[in-house]
Amino acid sequence: MSTTAAESALLGQTETFAHEVVRVLAPRWERERRIGREAVLQAAALGLTRLEVPEAWGGLAMSFGCKARVAEILGAADFAFTMSLINTQNVATKLARSAPQELARHYVPGLIEGRLLGCTALTEPGAGSDFAAIGTRATRTAQGWRLDGAKAWITNASEADVVLLYAQTEPGSGGRGIAGFVIDAHREGFVREPAFQLAGQHAIGTGGFRLEGYLARDEEMLQPPGQAFKAALGSINGARTYIAAMSCGMTAEALRIASEYGERRHSFGGPLAGHQGWRWRLAEASSELAACRMMVAHAAALIDAGADAQLASAQAKLLSTRMAERQLHVLAQAMGAEGLREEHPFGRHLIGARVASFVDGSTEMLLERISAVMRKPG
Ligand SMILES: Cc1cc2nc3c(=O)[nH]c(=O)nc-3n(C[C@H](O)[C@H](O)[C@H](O)COP(=O)(O)OP(=O)(O)OC[C@H]3O[C@@H](n4cnc5c(N)ncnc54)[C@H](O)[C@@H]3O)c2cc1C
Repeated sequence: MSTTAAESALLGQTETFAHEVVRVLAPRWERERRIGREAVLQAAALGLTRLEVPEAWGGLAMSFGCKARVAEILGAADFAFTMSLINTQNVATKLARSAPQELARHYVPGLIEGRLLGCTALTEPGAGSDFAAIGTRATRTAQGWRLDGAKAWITNASEADVVLLYAQTEPGSGGRGIAGFVIDAHREGFVREPAFQLAGQHAIGTGGFRLEGYLARDEEMLQPPGQAFKAALGSINGARTYIAAMSCGMTAEALRIASEYGERRHSFGGPLAGHQGWRWRLAEASSELAACRMMVAHAAALIDAGADAQLASAQAKLLSTRMAERQLHVLAQAMGAEGLREEHPFGRHLIGARVASFVDGSTEMLLERISAVMRKPG
């Protein structure tokens, strides 16, 4: 990826922030089962909540390739923090690019300053992979739209202030009837549920909420029926690519720690890295990581060029998440008992890689997408 001087400077600052702040605080966030709000404010001060936001809104308008690199660097320190931060960045970008001025003015400054958190809500208790089957209902009223239904498994839902939410306007019409709304989480009719208690990755702030007679004004319908379904799927290539980049970041960090440990720790008269069986495992991890990074860079370059990135992003995510799950196990094993210490990221990253295999298209949905592109005539 060719980077501008501004992007290189930002990437350098992101490296320092990831290493000195995120890596250090992540075990505490997991222990306390909460989003790393204090680091979100620091990330915002660096500009990481406005990477793609247009300059007219105080954004950095950086390339997608730069965003993917930021995702890899932060993901190496903590997958959960990165998920939370990127989701807020995505909401700020969407609102700045396409919301009516007054609505954008209401939310964008708070989001890019890290004071507000944003989330994007497709998934429901009864519909995950099958997005067209969502049941949250949007009913026309004299003043706008009345929303009723429930969302689940949403990043940042435990604390989000503003939600980009998808709802069905015409039951039975599938994707055609789905519309996108901007929801204020502090308005009447929004009922937040407690954060989900999971096997790990609590700094994602995963949770759910209900809409009980929530009233959205006309201008709060961001994407009308007919456009919303396509728009939601349109942004998924980017999401798949940055999740792949985060998977590479987690693997790279585990490889770095194991490589250093292998020179320090001795067994049978020499360092671990002196044993062929031990060091070959790391050589394999390094080679697979290099291949996945190339796939991520290829997908990011297509996105930046405005070209079709469906196949490249699905393939990059498929292989990078598989690589991360497999190699994180191998690298944790290479550490022996030491890898279990809380200050090392192996346990957190293993759950992070598990989450990466579901979000923004599960492994099976990626295989479906790749098959569909392969079977397309011509
Ligand atoms: C930590 C976390 C954060 C998340 N953040 C968000 C968010 O911010 N916004 C949001 O909208 N969603 C979010 N999600 C939800 C995520 O997008 C879903 O988990 C994902 O879409 C899969 O849906 P599901 O878990 O309901 O699985 P299901 O759809 O119930 O599927 C279960 C399993 O069956 C497989 N499967 C389903 N259908 C088929 C088929 N036709 N053929 C073969 N296999 C199939 C799936 O791949 C999966 O392995 C998040 C999830 C997690 C875990």
